[in-house]
Amino acid sequence: MKFNFFMPTKVISGEDCIVQNSEAFKAFGKKAVIVCGKHSAEASGALSDICKAIKKNQQDFCIYNKIMSNPTIPCVYDGAEFAKSNGADFVIAIGGGSPMDAAKAISLTAAQNIPPEQLFNSSEFTDKILPLVFVPTTAGTGSEVTQYSILTNDTAQTKTSIASQLIFPKIAFIDGKYTESLSKKTTVNTAIDALSHAIEGILSVRAGTISDALAFKSIEMIASCFESLKKGKLSKEQRTILIEASTMAGMVIAQTGTTSVHVMGYSLTYFKDIDHGRANGLLLGKTLKFIEKKNPELIKKILMPLNMSCDKFQAVLDELLGEKEKLTEEEILKFTEKASKNKNLCNGKVPPNKDDIYMIYKTSFQL
Ligand code: NAP
Ligand code: FE
Repeated sequence: MKFNFFMPTKVISGEDCIVQNSEAFKAFGKKAVIVCGKHSAEASGALSDICKAIKKNQQDFCIYNKIMSNPTIPCVYDGAEFAKSNGADFVIAIGGGSPMDAAKAISLTAAQNIPPEQLFNSSEFTDKILPLVFVPTTAGTGSEVTQYSILTNDTAQTKTSIASQLIFPKIAFIDGKYTESLSKKTTVNTAIDALSHAIEGILSVRAGTISDALAFKSIEMIASCFESLKKGKLSKEQRTILIEASTMAGMVIAQTGTTSVHVMGYSLTYFKDIDHGRANGLLLGKTLKFIEKKNPELIKKILMPLNMSCDKFQAVLDELLGEKEKLTEEEILKFTEKASKNKNLCNGKVPPNKDDIYMIYKTSFQL
């Protein structure tokens, strides 16, 4: 089997791993800019641990805490100005995918002059970037080990990725305790995002032996938490299982990219404000059902670690997601049009055509 595997991020995992490994980012410079949202860095306890580690290293820091969910391009440039005017040498991201993705673009635009209209054109980048240290506080996006920064792109009315090996974080600290402060809703949505990454990784034309091994293990680990996710009660061990599974699924999409589920989910987030993981979850079951008709062996292989049929998997997703949002016929037509033009569709082994996309939206929302 032909495949490439590239993972330059140093992953440091385990309880209290930040304070115990503070020297890992000592050489990155005198001053860090901590990039985060309004509440989660503090609520999770990660900010306090990062501050202890910075103190141990005798480094200085400033905090940019204006990252919103689904971060925008103006927010990135504002953060980069903040980093530059405060003389930051490196960037520490604390939070879910939103602060982590924003931090990648901030470190890039703080180090080199990239006009907004060139931000998604990585072939024009030089190799300058502020080193990135990542602390995920959700168990979902895997952004701590990917080369993607996914931003709200109002010009294109969707979410668009910067994809560049330059923005792989240098270090990712993985500690499940930071996810204990998450709401049930975000815990479930982010776990489904991770599950979607692992499944889409297997569905990708770029899947290989190593990415498949990580993906199957990740699916098995997330599935072991399904019952607890439904109840909204996760043990400390399960929090660790989910964050490790999410990092593994991130390593998968760093190789394979995502496929039609993510492509179709972006409109649900952009136009309907549906959380990213939930958007994927709403589409995942019917996407697998569609692929099953064309390639039953592939779906059998994916559902093996779950020990479930496609219908049973749909029932689990339905239970986790609860009452679904409503889409109008007009919205379905508009989202179908947008998704059908996305180049990432070709990344799937069984890419849906425009009629298939329409049918997946329609059946997912039971119109
Ligand atoms: P998020 O947007 O980062 O966070 C959602 C909410 O959860 C925010 O209100 C956040 O609060 C809160 N939160 C985060 N951690 C918390 C904690 N430990 N305790 C309490 N509250 C907490 O959600 P996400 O699902 O992790 O990230 C979604 C973003 O990631 C999307 O933009 C998506 O496109 C992107 N994504 C990126 C990749 C990639 O490879 N780069 C892959 C998949 C998805 P605060 O606002 O206070 O932080
Ligand atoms: Fe995702």
